[in-house]
Amino acid sequence: MEKKYVLYCFHCGNESLHQPVHKQPADIAWNNGDGGLCLTSTQYHIFVCDVCNILSLYADPYYEIDEFSVDEYGCDNFTSRIRLLWPPALLADESIPKEILEVYHAALKIKLKHPNSFAVQIRKALEIICLEQGVKGKTLNEQLINLITLLKLPELLQEITCFIRIVGIAGAHPDKPNVTYQHANFIHDFFLVVLQFIYIAPCAVKKFKNIASEFKI
Ligand SMILES: [Zn+2]
Repeated sequence: MEKKYVLYCFHCGNESLHQPVHKQPADIAWNNGDGGLCLTSTQYHIFVCDVCNILSLYADPYYEIDEFSVDEYGCDNFTSRIRLLWPPALLADESIPKEILEVYHAALKIKLKHPNSFAVQIRKALEIICLEQGVKGKTLNEQLINLITLLKLPELLQEITCFIRIVGIAGAHPDKPNVTYQHANFIHDFFLVVLQFIYIAPCAVKKFKNIASEFKI
């Protein structure tokens, strides 16, 4: 049996053993900027989590580099160099405040079995974002409206945060409809969009500005 690897599972929120079930090499040709083509070899890996039995897809862009080429499964650096491609996930990102990441990871642990509680936790994460951004308002709804205005976010974000807010309320109250795993998936995706707009994309834009001054006209 092939060696299993400890990876963080973004389906069940556990740091768990993962069984490699398939790997697939692929060569990608890309323009090097001088009219020439470079060839990059990437190896794709599918793992199944021992806890939830759901698969995840990873890419290993360095598997042909000499220092790693002994055996991609036997190499100590293997788990640190592979990159998660699926499921969509919030990877460690320096731009996101620690308290938000903590609530997000706590929510992931209960998503599969307790989608009601997952929705409540993600709503709580929205409250933390509002606090962290210093927006005022008597209710979360008011705070979110002020947040959208303050950060000049698109109107669609107002709708998205509203979905998270009302599903989070439903998750906490027995007289409201139950939150299903499918609802939780939507809320999860919406939350990642919110984080992209508020933290990840602004930070990436700032970094790109620093490295791409040559594009200025
Ligand atoms: Zn899992």
